[in-house]
Amino acid sequence: MTLDRVTGDRTVRPAGRRKIPAGPTVLVVEDNDLIAVLIRDTLQSYGYRVFLASDAREGILLARALRPHVILMDICLPQMSGLEATRIIKAEPPLKDIPVVAVTAHAMSGDQERILDGGCEAYLSKPFRMADLLRVVEEAVKHPRGRVGTSGKVRRLPRAS
Ligand code: MN
Repeated sequence: MTLDRVTGDRTVRPAGRRKIPAGPTVLVVEDNDLIAVLIRDTLQSYGYRVFLASDAREGILLARALRPHVILMDICLPQMSGLEATRIIKAEPPLKDIPVVAVTAHAMSGDQERILDGGCEAYLSKPFRMADLLRVVEEAVKHPRGRVGTSGKVRRLPRAS
């Protein structure tokens, strides 16, 4: 794990005497630096605390260290795939309930099933709009594991009044 890649929250600042509560933590596992930074900047501007990992091994280590609210997992990674990393994460009791959103460039038929069978809770195809990214992350935070539809879309639950 290289610390220079770990990007902590620098956007949340105390306002007056009140401390703004830090937003949900998102771990982004992505080997394309440009995409990783774009995702980080977008999520940070919406108040998320974002950490980056550039490969599966680093992603697993950071997942253990941070226990983030959501993991955005690129599927196509060097050495170990995002699916293999997800299998390892889902086999660890402290980590298995963290929603994993698979991010993949491959839009081939069968991919979605393969990814959801691999333990990912949701699915985002590249290229994606930042609005879609924000929606998926927000839904994953609101409805963690067990409340996410197997279609890859997050099932909306009725709002508690
Ligand atoms: Mn990749």
